[in-house]
Amino acid sequence: MTPPATSFEVHDPAVLRWARETLDRAADPRQMQREVLAAVQRNAVWRGKECLNLLAPEAPMSPTVRSLLSAEVGQRAAEGHIGAVNRWFVGTRYIDEIEALCVELLKRLFGARYADHRLVASMIGNMAVYAALTEPGDPIMSLTQPLGGHSSNRRDGPAGVRGLRIFDIPMDPVELEVDLEAFTRVAREVRPRLVALGASMTLFPFPVREMAAIVAEWGGKIFFDGAHQLGLIAGGQFQDPLAEGACVLTGSAGKTFSGPQSGVIVWNDPTLTQPITTAIFPTLAATHQVNRVAALAAAAAELLAFGRAYMAQIVANAQAIGRGLHQRGIPMLGAHKGFTRTHQVIADVSRFGGGYEVARRLERANIITNKNLIPSDTPDRWDFPSGLRMGTTEVTRWGMKEPEMDTIAALIADVILGRQEPEAARLRVIELRRAFPRLHYCFSE
Ligand SMILES: *Cc1c(COP(=O)(O)O)cnc(C)c1O
Repeated sequence: MTPPATSFEVHDPAVLRWARETLDRAADPRQMQREVLAAVQRNAVWRGKECLNLLAPEAPMSPTVRSLLSAEVGQRAAEGHIGAVNRWFVGTRYIDEIEALCVELLKRLFGARYADHRLVASMIGNMAVYAALTEPGDPIMSLTQPLGGHSSNRRDGPAGVRGLRIFDIPMDPVELEVDLEAFTRVAREVRPRLVALGASMTLFPFPVREMAAIVAEWGGKIFFDGAHQLGLIAGGQFQDPLAEGACVLTGSAGKTFSGPQSGVIVWNDPTLTQPITTAIFPTLAATHQVNRVAALAAAAAELLAFGRAYMAQIVANAQAIGRGLHQRGIPMLGAHKGFTRTHQVIADVSRFGGGYEVARRLERANIITNKNLIPSDTPDRWDFPSGLRMGTTEVTRWGMKEPEMDTIAALIADVILGRQEPEAARLRVIELRRAFPRLHYCFSE
């Protein structure tokens, strides 16, 4: 049944029309299914084999981790906590083993006393934190989007849904670090119950220790939303939020962590265990995709073995791209302090047409990046911001190192500066990608 044409859609009407016409043309449902498979295949060839994927929130899973996503256990239901009595369903003997292995691997990886494996997204982890540690009407502090903040800690995300009063963490827009003096002043006035250090644009560490000491004056806590930095933290290549005084750490399993897209949450304080785990089940997760849990456990084992070397190279590669772009005349954030301490670098491309325009141009060259708000933008510049964000997780796992990062920086600069047509650069991109066919930092079968 074709829905009426007047119905309101948030999606691009042209793309939905393409889908309707494709389904209309199909002779039968079997052909409709083939259209789905064909689109998946087109993506696998283009994004999987012919692109330099520099999207900061992406990471390639190892063959083992990826194959677990289609494991038999993915069609089994396992609500509740681990163990026969804690489950609603029987038949979970081996599922208990998988999940317990996952929890214990996560604890080891982060040196934490508690971990949970059931977050179908890191967003859900953040919602669990707000449900467990705040009451509606409580004041919290978080970062604005132009300074790197994420919707999950703002009005339009879980923090807003929880009915929290949200105040901004003052940031130094040049140093791209928290302005501790201003923070102290605002925090003492607002007395936030929770300070959310969550950044999607993340270049430098946060002064967690100092901030924790300040909010402790009134019993406030630091919540570290390490969605992006989770793998770096696991590999010991970023700050260690729990050791520095954060009470809970959440993060995305599919960003630098390089596991299945979902969430991770770890903490040390035993008094938080009851509130956090009841927020997860039965509040926010029921059947939690045990195939994903298995993949998460396997990814955690890989990081135990390879995390240090993998994450160190990711950071070195990001610094090399930053250097390469800076040397070729592209303004880079944090250039005066080594560009980055994470997997990301941020260019200010306002004078080259802005982030939207530049990302689209690079896409024609098979270089995948994203437009990004930067400190000089107001939040309403959302669709057409000044920045461009690049991340090195995927190219690093393909085995590329500093010399290739300089080649990539040259390709990007050529396209941005109009020295080369994107279509000409694309041939060189495909050639570079083909030279690195094997994933690194994982066990061979
Ligand atoms: C990506 C991101 C999230 C959401 O993570 P998902 O795993 O996509 O749900 C939350 N917080 C920050 C800071 C992020 O960058």
